[in-house]
Amino acid sequence: MKISKIFLYDEPSVPEINISELADFLKSTFKIDVEVRKNILRNSDEVTAQKIASCRIFNPRKPFEIHEPTLEEIKFEQENFEDTSRTENIIMYDGFEFQKVILELISDNELTSENFHIVFTNKLTCSYDFNDYRYHGRAVICSNPSIISTTGIIEAPAKPRDYYMELISNIRQGLNVKSIKKKYSGKYLEYNDSRLSKIIQGYLLQALFYYLFEEAFCELRECVLFNAHWQSDLMYSQLESGKLCDNHQKILDDFVKNLNL
Ligand SMILES: [Zn+2]
Repeated sequence: MKISKIFLYDEPSVPEINISELADFLKSTFKIDVEVRKNILRNSDEVTAQKIASCRIFNPRKPFEIHEPTLEEIKFEQENFEDTSRTENIIMYDGFEFQKVILELISDNELTSENFHIVFTNKLTCSYDFNDYRYHGRAVICSNPSIISTTGIIEAPAKPRDYYMELISNIRQGLNVKSIKKKYSGKYLEYNDSRLSKIIQGYLLQALFYYLFEEAFCELRECVLFNAHWQSDLMYSQLESGKLCDNHQKILDDFVKNLNL
């Protein structure tokens, strides 16, 4: 697979994405032209609102069924197009269905295999897992366009086990949840976390490696392509290690070398 340009679509409610820095990161890593754009859903119409509302998941234990949205749900999406921060509760969406709606928003002349599109969203994208028969939050949907969910990055990899145990036992005793959060602070990503941009770099690499080399994930925890199921692993791979393993670095180096041939 060859690409000549990457398009990044911003999620304005999450400034910690730091999109211009991410664009520079991609430019210097892949030596490819990168264009930053505003939120892809901005100025979308009611038909798109209806399609997105129909991707909602109501029963995480059942595979996807098209949801017949209510007028209120459609209105919510429309309002969300203009101001994406207007999300009170976390709503689960089927990530692959959501990706299909986003795909339709990209014009045909830009939808060539040489143009790679990456769309940021604060919506929680999920996918159904037939191994345990339930939906799980996902940070990235690898395809073209790829979807990176900032809420997925924060919610999908699990927080430390002790955190949950302490939370459960303390809630029963009526103790302060805030103090527990404080105790574990730094051990997992929070909303508006300044480390988000650096962590997103790893997810950008996953999306691009999947598209270019059909390889999104790595077995090695030291590699930024490691598929983290725990926040502690995510922190380790993306922040402490923060680089590709030798094998994946070589794949990238070869790609860049071939660009200049
Ligand atoms: Zn690797």
